[in-house]
Amino acid sequence: MVRMVDLSAYRRLIHREWHARLRTASGSETTYHRRWPVWQHISPNQWYDWRWQWQHRLRSIHDLIRTGILPEHDGRLDSTVRRYPMLISPYYAVLMDLKDARDPIRRQAVPDVAESRSTALDPDPLDEARLEAVPGLIHRYPDRALLLVTNVCTTFCRHCFRKRILSRARVPTAVRNLSEIVHYIARHPEIRDVILSGGDPLILPSRVLARILHRLREIPHVEVIRIGTRVPVTLPMRIADPTLLRILDRYSPIWILTHFNHPREITLEAEAAVRLLLRVGAPVLNQTVLLHGINDRVCTMRTLLRRLIRIGVKPYYLHHPDPVDGTAHFRCTLEEGIAIMEGLRGHISGIAIPTYVVDLPGGGGKVPIQPEYIVRRGTDSWILRNHRGEQFLYPNCPERSGHPIVSSAPFPDRRVSVHTKS
Ligand code: SF4
Repeated sequence: MVRMVDLSAYRRLIHREWHARLRTASGSETTYHRRWPVWQHISPNQWYDWRWQWQHRLRSIHDLIRTGILPEHDGRLDSTVRRYPMLISPYYAVLMDLKDARDPIRRQAVPDVAESRSTALDPDPLDEARLEAVPGLIHRYPDRALLLVTNVCTTFCRHCFRKRILSRARVPTAVRNLSEIVHYIARHPEIRDVILSGGDPLILPSRVLARILHRLREIPHVEVIRIGTRVPVTLPMRIADPTLLRILDRYSPIWILTHFNHPREITLEAEAAVRLLLRVGAPVLNQTVLLHGINDRVCTMRTLLRRLIRIGVKPYYLHHPDPVDGTAHFRCTLEEGIAIMEGLRGHISGIAIPTYVVDLPGGGGKVPIQPEYIVRRGTDSWILRNHRGEQFLYPNCPERSGHPIVSSAPFPDRRVSVHTKS
């Protein structure tokens, strides 16, 4: 059922959830960007206009020097940027701490010569090119299809696992082949879940996004539509666009899979953007990538997950970083990932805990990994361990296991070592 609501309703919503909210939260609309000499003269109206942000993205080494992000020209970066293009929205740039060369925001956006040194890995370890059923559509799991609707983003993440397709020129493969893609999905009734990805689908012109969603909603067996986007993190003002909100509302529910990696990315603007999405019926889930030197400490990860829950975002996946060409300096060990997960369970709310997954090379799919809580499997009972390392005897279901408890003795003591479940 498609809802038709007048644009003015969305303008009122944006006023309440965006402008009024930012003003109340900060005393006036935030003007922190004026601390940056290069943007001192930019008014809040310009700053909060996503089109202005889009037009003024940083694209070159020269832009990094002009804005003070790099002190001087470093010739070694030229070949890195030629190989892996750079784009940074002004909004995301001002989240950087310029005094800190290892700043986690900076490292996610500013090119690093280490990218050129780590090119021995596979540019496409998940074998997406092979799994492209028709150009622009990846069919890896039977019930899901992933559309590559663009190869542009507001900010190119240096750790992106699709570095191979990112480009400043818009070549919207799935958009060009939309009819062929829709035809393919319509011929595969097992596909119930379609994910728009890229690149960042929320930077598509609104009418193009509306056309894609409309065509997908016309296919009766497509039950779930998801959009993978980093717009709430790198250009949240894009969400405060009445036309975009109307589209998301009209084809609701559209599940938003966003990508916050560090607590400092959760700003007033990001929070306001998430509230707008929730208000138009778009549930927001987060996929964090575990990144060396950025969020690979338990305290950082706990803070991130707590803040996500506070603003209404459900942590969905913690991705182990894929072995992608140009990203080796971001990689962590599996042991480090398990240690992070060990530091979450029992220490933060269960709804804040994501599933830690490894995407298997060669298109093998995602595999969840977690600390081992099973100490021993018995016929009648198992020994399980809790987050404090205490072990408990847990009764299995004797009727179903075919090994009914025949002893008339009282229920066995559940303690293993000295610990008792209260
Ligand atoms: S926004 Fe997503 S697709 Fe774009 S560079 Fe970042 S991780 Fe890659």
